Amino acid sequence: MRILITGAAGFLGSHLADRFLDDGHEVIGLDNFITGSRENVELLRRRDGFAFIEHDISVPIDIPGPLDGILHFASPASPVDYLEIPIQTLKVGSLGTHHCLGIALRKSARFLLASTSEVYGDPQLHPQPESYWGHVNPVGPRGCYDEAKRFAEAMTMAYHRHHGVDTRIVRIFNTYGPRMRPGDGRVVSNFIVQGLRGDDLTVYGDGSQTRSFCFVSDEVDGIVRLFHSDEVEPVNVGNPTEFTILELAELVVAETGGRSTIAHRDLPVDDPKVRRPDISRARELLGWQPRVALEEGLQRTIPWFRDKVTHGGAQARPLT
Ligand code: UDP
Repeated sequence: MRILITGAAGFLGSHLADRFLDDGHEVIGLDNFITGSRENVELLRRRDGFAFIEHDISVPIDIPGPLDGILHFASPASPVDYLEIPIQTLKVGSLGTHHCLGIALRKSARFLLASTSEVYGDPQLHPQPESYWGHVNPVGPRGCYDEAKRFAEAMTMAYHRHHGVDTRIVRIFNTYGPRMRPGDGRVVSNFIVQGLRGDDLTVYGDGSQTRSFCFVSDEVDGIVRLFHSDEVEPVNVGNPTEFTILELAELVVAETGGRSTIAHRDLPVDDPKVRRPDISRARELLGWQPRVALEEGLQRTIPWFRDKVTHGGAQARPLT
């Protein structure tokens, strides 16, 4: 197959590109490097079957030649990023999704949308099944991401129902692993970089809020299974083992040498208090469940950041 991946310079996009190349497909990566990294693209460029287009998918583009699949992964995904670039975040989720769906329609390609657990907002139902409609503040600081992704889901379903485009929607829960930027700003990268440097770990609020962390190889496997399935309705793909942020901090301190202490900072506005996927549908429809526990996943992730800290002087990027 010939596959277009938007956001191919990003964390998940680059891992997905590798996976499709491993499976013998041709991959066209597209990215504008607003949050993606050139290093990820350089790694992909060494592989046969990979081509790259530098472009902002919020602006229309014609991709030459046939396409069998489009995976739309372009978007800022860290709250620190989308607070800094809210308009680009809204545009890539709305206009970018519309443009990808237009390409999918013209090329008769399958389209997979990278959606998010953020469509559930600060959830009032726990854990979150796909049938839950969510609890999102449209005018709060996270609204730019949450509402863009909700719009993207609605646009995807409209293209499916109205134009018959073959679509898939994956709702991705907190994912971590090698290739995250050290300055990404999300909790796992911040804590690991802080731990490796011996800096304080910045725990927002009292750290009792929860998240459920999925290692990248599990996440990519779930996404690829969904892409190849027949399931049009959204599917949660995430690890259902839930941790408080304080528990994560303690684990990261232990895994990174035990030199850091914990420093509490203000809790961001609209920070979801709990998050955990109900993955019954992924289990039943895709035969998928995560395999890598948090401790093992951290051990497989820390060397990536250690290299960046030791050789590049990498810093975390907590909210100021
Ligand atoms: N968080 C934290 N310290 C940090 C970064 C994040 O305590 O340096 C918390 C944040 O308040 C949230 C959780 O960790 O409750 C996950 O935040 P992240 O930015 O990774 O993504 P989110 O799940 O909120 O989209």
